Amino acid sequence: MTHRILILGGTSEARQLVGKLAAHAGLSIALSLAGRTESPVAQGVPVRSGGFGGADGLAAYLRKEHIDLLIDATHPYAAQISANAAQAVRAAGVPILALRRPGWEPVEGDRWTLAATVADAVQALGAAPRRVFLALGRQEVAAFEAAPQHHYLIRSVDAVDPKLAVPNARYLLARGPFREVDERALLQEQRIGIVVSKNSGGEATYGKIAAARALGIEVVMIRRPDLPDVPSAETVEALAAMVYHFVEPAAERGV
Ligand code: NAP
Repeated sequence: MTHRILILGGTSEARQLVGKLAAHAGLSIALSLAGRTESPVAQGVPVRSGGFGGADGLAAYLRKEHIDLLIDATHPYAAQISANAAQAVRAAGVPILALRRPGWEPVEGDRWTLAATVADAVQALGAAPRRVFLALGRQEVAAFEAAPQHHYLIRSVDAVDPKLAVPNARYLLARGPFREVDERALLQEQRIGIVVSKNSGGEATYGKIAAARALGIEVVMIRRPDLPDVPSAETVEALAAMVYHFVEPAAERGV
């Protein structure tokens, strides 16, 4: 029997999970992306792209495609799709598992200011002009137009378009992972005085946080949104183990 699994992705962990589960003979894997990144990395399994039309649309999709298990492996700040997923599985009677990457914790030497929202992060920069590194998605950076006195270095996966209506902004297009040594060089070259970051967790984008700590640079850390409480694992390996447990009857596992 083949189990049909839909993975809500858009993260490096989702990609890794696809690779791991696709190798399992009894699983038929499909990946869903929001469709915002212009050239998503090739996945090797069927990929659908674009919104479902809210929780109802996702529930209808789960039924139509006879999905046996939904996996929410979206980004920790993608709160809407995670809420939709939790609601849709209840409506469709489909089990769900989530990959919940733990956030970073401050360690000695970190100079973090916590911000509840992107708008609060803008305020946290203060009135005096500063050289700011925005390591945020293109959807979030528009809020910084409210503080045009700063010099911004903006790094995103896709081009920020339209560009910010501020006099001093430079744009970098890059996709992680980013090494600490390179982040350190970037912060120094650009004479960055403060970094604005989401608490994404994981290794791929931690380099800038470690680099800021090493250089004594402040970080404005935007708080994570609340996510629905569903069965979850913190790592790709642990989640894959939960999936195997879910699809293989106890007898087949020899227990
Ligand atoms: P969001 O605010 O939670 O989602 C907004 C809407 O986009 C959802 O209601 C849904 O539309 C659609 N959507 C989101 N993820 C989808 C998916 N995997 N497949 C199909 N539709 C999806 O999320 P977001 O912040 O826009 O993030 C979009 C995607 O980018 C997510 O897959 C996330 O993992 C990835 N991402 C986000 C961030 C971030 O910081 N937010 C960072 C890296 C990657 P409908 O309601 O019409 O179904």
